[in-house]
Amino acid sequence: MSGSDSFKYEVEIQKFEKPQRISRETKKILDDAGMVINGKVNIKGVSVKMLNRMKSEYVPCPVLNEEVMFLKCFACRNFQSRVRGKVLCKGDPL
Ligand code: SF4
Repeated sequence: MSGSDSFKYEVEIQKFEKPQRISRETKKILDDAGMVINGKVNIKGVSVKMLNRMKSEYVPCPVLNEEVMFLKCFACRNFQSRVRGKVLCKGDPL
């Protein structure tokens, strides 16, 4: 792949032991990003298996200073890409 755009942080993706429930807030964010169809999270190119794996992932977000479910991070406007277990984050204030 060619070079990346600017990003400020490389945030290592961590794992919960079990998949987590998607909070109402995260669901709303995903919905606003067009990633919810008929009340279910449905992300283009992401299989149910992958989605389940994503539900047990989180990132220690350096902008919000808290643990953020990967799915929420994925829909964040600072999310640039996911590379080798890391999120490339633009790091703008939210
Ligand atoms: S993309 Fe958003 S949620 Fe993810 S680490 Fe960056 S600021 Fe936090």
